[in-house]
Amino acid sequence: MPPMPMTRPFDEDHPHEECGIFGIFNVADGAARTALGLHALQHRGQEAAGVVTFDGRQFHVHRGLGHVADNFGSEEVIRKLPGASAIGHNRYATTGETVLRNVQPLFAEFAFGGLAIAHNGNLTNAYAIRRGLVRRGCLFQSTTDTEVIIHLIATSPFSDVVDRVIDALKQVEGAYSLVALTQDALIGVRDPLGVRPLLLGRLGEGHILASESCALDINGAEFVRDVEPGELVVLRDGRVDSLKPFHRHPARFCIFEYIYFARPDSQVEGRNVYEVRKRIGAELARESHIPADLVVPVPDSGVPAAMGYAEEARIPFEFGIVRNHYVGRTFIEPTDHIRHLGVKLKHNANRGQLKGKCVILVDDSIVRGTTSKKIVEMVRSAGAKEVHLRISSPPTTHSCFYGIDTPSRAELIAAQNDVPAIARMIGADSLSFISIDGLYRALGEAGRDHRRPQFCDACFSGDYPIALTDFDGGSTARQLSLLAAED
Ligand code: AMP
Repeated sequence: MPPMPMTRPFDEDHPHEECGIFGIFNVADGAARTALGLHALQHRGQEAAGVVTFDGRQFHVHRGLGHVADNFGSEEVIRKLPGASAIGHNRYATTGETVLRNVQPLFAEFAFGGLAIAHNGNLTNAYAIRRGLVRRGCLFQSTTDTEVIIHLIATSPFSDVVDRVIDALKQVEGAYSLVALTQDALIGVRDPLGVRPLLLGRLGEGHILASESCALDINGAEFVRDVEPGELVVLRDGRVDSLKPFHRHPARFCIFEYIYFARPDSQVEGRNVYEVRKRIGAELARESHIPADLVVPVPDSGVPAAMGYAEEARIPFEFGIVRNHYVGRTFIEPTDHIRHLGVKLKHNANRGQLKGKCVILVDDSIVRGTTSKKIVEMVRSAGAKEVHLRISSPPTTHSCFYGIDTPSRAELIAAQNDVPAIARMIGADSLSFISIDGLYRALGEAGRDHRRPQFCDACFSGDYPIALTDFDGGSTARQLSLLAAED
């Protein structure tokens, strides 16, 4: 049968997302608790937020564009979301228009009752599955890959909801941590490689699932454990049932969560993110030390690594750049033009500290090079004599297809240029990135096990541990839109 054409929609939004997820079960004021959790996870997604609650009789949904505080800051909204069980989601879709119909959690009425689902990660065969489902008559309402899971649950032959979720997830490939709320249970799942984080906490008689431990802290909840890679937990009737429905794989947690994405005060997979970042800074100092007057972080993401660097190199640490906290992360800005402005909106050089100094500038990553170029210029024009840039990750040479937004390889400065060329382009006197083995050492490993890497580091190595079924040309392409015309 020839392929059926797919209509193009009215927006060009993109399914590629970085997100924060939260779920709570059997705790009074579920919506208010979820809003707090999402607020703590705001760094994982700032474009939209949503909460679904269940009050023992029916589900309630509120979703909106913007920050958590903009959408869930009023008592009136929280009052309309009664129930002791809830899930929530922060969305960070990075290109195209953000439209309300894509804001999670997604909710649907099934033969077995209602189910809401919130997902962090990126499915790598959602497009292929979606094509099949559309041929079979499924009607899609959004362009998120999460909706594919909804349809697979709906069309599953199993009667029990947990069996249906397992059946659906066995068909998808990719990186996902997800929470799902049914009428009598909260379900949490991590993909077989455990690429994205998810942890379990306890609050009184109830439980919490969240992307990071900072979402437990804000609620005064106790950390119980990480949900394991490939594990599905069902919270119901005061119990936590653990299932391992998938084939076992060696875990490949995302290394970039430690470098940049997770909050420094979070405990992720047994490690404190702040500590890891400081150790990366110390490794970086050992690998690429240069005499200087000051170590200056690019705030906020470069701060812990710069502290580790300064301590190791025994060079004074100073806030030579000050960040304005009333602007979001630069990367979120949709166009190049705005992104260029964004760096200035966000950072200002602290002239008093920099004048006449030889400065080691520490940042976490260079993606397109836009930020570094502006910052180096800014530090130099504030009077610094020399500017040496040190980066607490290896060069980003490959795009991520597992839920961290990165531009296509063509836009990645390190995919196109070697280190001396990048140093020239951004105007630094010298430039060094941490080595991949140095990074692994900072994480407590002897180095990268090249036969069986301990983390997913595809953005630095091009070693993609999960099949890229939907992607045109594998590592060279970006996520295909779910709405692209069929071939
Ligand atoms: P660029 O200007 O494109 O080189 O971006 C580099 C800056 O963006 C760094 O200072 C990082 O802190 C930040 N960054 C890196 N990766 C991401 C990401 N996936 N999402 C948001 N910000 C990022």
